[in-house]
Amino acid sequence: QTHFLSHPLQAKMSRPVQARRLEGTDKNIWVEFVKLAATYSKVNLGQGFPDFPAPDFLTEAFTRALGGGNHMLHQYTRAFGHPPLVKVLGQLFEKLLGRELDPMTNVMVTVGAYQALFCCFQALVDEGDEVIIIEPFFDCYEAMVKMAGGTPVFVPLRLNPSKDGKLMSSADWQLDPAELASKFSERTKAIVLNSPNNPLGKVFSREELGLMAELCVKHDVLCISDEVYEWLVYDGKQHIRIASLQGMWDRTVTIGSAGKTFSATGWKVGWVVGPDRLLQHLRTVHQNSVYHCATIAQEAVAQGFQRELMLYGKPESYFVQLPKELQQKRDWLVRSLESVGMKPIIPEGTYFLVADISQFKSDVPDVPSSDEPYDYRFTKWMVKNKGLAAIPLSAFYSEAHKNNYTNFIRFCFAKEEATLKAANDILQKWKQEKTST
Ligand code: PMP
Repeated sequence: QTHFLSHPLQAKMSRPVQARRLEGTDKNIWVEFVKLAATYSKVNLGQGFPDFPAPDFLTEAFTRALGGGNHMLHQYTRAFGHPPLVKVLGQLFEKLLGRELDPMTNVMVTVGAYQALFCCFQALVDEGDEVIIIEPFFDCYEAMVKMAGGTPVFVPLRLNPSKDGKLMSSADWQLDPAELASKFSERTKAIVLNSPNNPLGKVFSREELGLMAELCVKHDVLCISDEVYEWLVYDGKQHIRIASLQGMWDRTVTIGSAGKTFSATGWKVGWVVGPDRLLQHLRTVHQNSVYHCATIAQEAVAQGFQRELMLYGKPESYFVQLPKELQQKRDWLVRSLESVGMKPIIPEGTYFLVADISQFKSDVPDVPSSDEPYDYRFTKWMVKNKGLAAIPLSAFYSEAHKNNYTNFIRFCFAKEEATLKAANDILQKWKQEKTST
C-alpha cells in the first residue's frame, strides 16, 4: 500500500508499450470490412466463406466425435496433430506428391492455414531476410514477414491487355520472368506462392511454377506454398503442387485448410506438409505458441479425409462435387456482373472473382485529396448505399503499388443461389437507376 501511495505517478506508464515488431502491422482490412458488412450489408459477398452448409458427412463426423463413446476426444491430443488426422493427410499427400511421407514428421496440423503461415514465417525468416511476395496477395503475408523481422519484396502479376473486347481471365495476369528473376538475391530467404491465388483466382501454370522452382534452386531459396484452394479449380484445369517439381520438395512447405476444403472455415483446422528439416522448426514455433488445435475438429476432419481418400476421383467425392457446384456459381455471377457492366475477370480457381468497376465510377466520385484508395471508397459506399459487401482489390497490394489497382473489387461466390440472386437484384436495380438518371 505505502509503496503505491508514495509513487502515485507510476500507475500511468509513460514508456512505449507496443513491441517494435508490431510496427506497421496494426491495420487489418478484414477487421474493418467485416465490421462494415455486419453493420450495413443485406448481401455479403465480401469475406471468403461459404454461406451454404458444410457437407453432411463432415458435420455427422463431428456429432459422432462429440457424443460418441470416446470421451478422450474432449482432451488434449498430440501437439503436432491428432494421430488419425496426420495419418490420413500423410496418405493423401503421398498420392498427391508422389513420394513416401512420415505422418509424424512430414505433416503438422495447425489452427487454420493462418497459423500454418505464422509458423512458417516465424520459423524460417530472420531479421534482414527478404521474402518475395507475388502481388496481389493474401494480405497477412506482408504483416507476418514484417513481424518476423524480414523485408517483403513485391513482384506484381502483370496484366496482359485484353483481347478484342473478350472478358479477361485470371490467366491474363502473368509474372514477367525477367522481373521475377531480378527480385532474387543472396538476401532472399523465401518466396511465397499462392496458387490458386486469392484474390484473382489465378491457377499458376506448369511453366510459371517451373520458372519459380528454377530460381529457388539457383538461389537456394525456400518456398512457402499456400494451397488452401487446391480443390477449387475450374474448366478442367489442373492444380500443380510446386513441391512435386524437381528439386523443390526439400525447400517447400505446402499449406492447406480444412476450412476451405470442406466448406467449414469456422473449424480452423489447417496443416503444413514438408520435409522434416523444415517442419522441425515450425514445430518449435507451434509448441511454444498455440501447442495444438481442437481435438474434436481434428477427429472430424480426419474422418472427412478418410471418406475422400476412399472416393478419390469418383463422382461422389466432395473434391469433385464442390468445384462443379462452384463453377456454376462462378458462371452465374460472371453473367450477372457482365450484364450490368462490371467487367468480371474470370477466375480459374478459388471462390473469388475480381471485377472492374470503371463503369460505375460516376456514382462514387473520387476525392483526389483522400489518402484512401478509390476502390476502398467505392466498396464502402456500395455497402452503405446498396447493401452489397465486397472487398477492394488494392487491399491485396503493397502500399507502394496500391494506387495502380483501384478500379477493381473482389466478390466471393461461395454462396447459396438465393444470396447470388439477391446480389443480382441489387446490381440490376442499380444499373436501372443509372440509366434512368
Ligand atoms: N491463405 C489464403 C490464401 C486464404 O485466402 C485464407 C483464408 N481466407 C487463409 C490462408 C487462411 O485459412 P484458414 O481459414 O484455414 O486459416
